[in-house]
Amino acid sequence: MKTVGLIGGMSWESSLTYYQRINRQIKQRKGGLHSAPLILYSVDFAHIARLQHQNDWQQLAAYLASIGQSLETAGAQALVICTNTMHKVAPQVANVVRIPLLHIGDALITASRVQGYQRVGLLGTQFTMEQPFLREHLTAGGLTVLVPEQEERDEVHRVIYEELCQGIIREESLCRYQQIIDNLKAAGAEAVILGCTEIGLLVGAENSSLPVLDTALLHADSVADFILSESI
Ligand code: GLU
Repeated sequence: MKTVGLIGGMSWESSLTYYQRINRQIKQRKGGLHSAPLILYSVDFAHIARLQHQNDWQQLAAYLASIGQSLETAGAQALVICTNTMHKVAPQVANVVRIPLLHIGDALITASRVQGYQRVGLLGTQFTMEQPFLREHLTAGGLTVLVPEQEERDEVHRVIYEELCQGIIREESLCRYQQIIDNLKAAGAEAVILGCTEIGLLVGAENSSLPVLDTALLHADSVADFILSESI
C-alpha cells in the first residue's frame, strides 16, 4: 500500500472524518486487520483562520507548502489538504513537492460524473463560494456551479466557523441550511456540494432535499483509492 500525507486540523473535527473514513475503506477493501498508511500533520486552526480573515494567503501558502515538504521528507507518496478553503493555495503547495497532490475538486468531478449531476449547488466558506479557486476547477471539469444569495452565504460561513469547526451542532442551523438547499433546488441544482469538510456533521442525504456530494467523504475515498493503487 502507498503512504499518504494529510495536512489536517482545519478543523480537526473534519480531519477525524477523513481518518475514520480512509481507514474504514481500507479495512472494507482489504479485510482483516488492514488499515491505512497515513502521516497526519495537524495544525492549530486558530492560526489558520486568523490569517484567512486577514487575507494573508501568501503566508498561508508558505506555511502549507512547508508542511507539504515535511510530509514528503517523512515518506508520503501523495499529499492531501483536508479542507476545501485551503485549496486556494493548492498550486503553491503542489509546486514545492515532487509527489502528487490529490485535489478535492477532482474527487467531486469524478463523483458528479458517476452520479450524473451537471448542475450543482455549492455550500462552503465565503472564500470557497465567492472566490474562483474551487468553482473554476469544477467548471473546467464540466460542472455548472450555483451559489446561494449573499445573506445566505454569510450565514453558511458564520455557522462553519462559529459552530461546526468548534463541534457545535444546532437544530436552527440545520433548518437554515435546509432552506438554503431548498432555494438551490428551486434555482435548478440537481445536487448540493457540501463544500466545507465540516458540513457533513450537520447535513446529510437523510435531511437534505437535494442529493449531497460530501467533500470530506468523497476526498477521503479518493485517498483510499490512491493508497490501494498499483505502483507504476
Ligand atoms: N474545513 C472547511 C473547508 O472545507 C473550512 C475550514 C477552513 O477554512 O479550512 O473549507
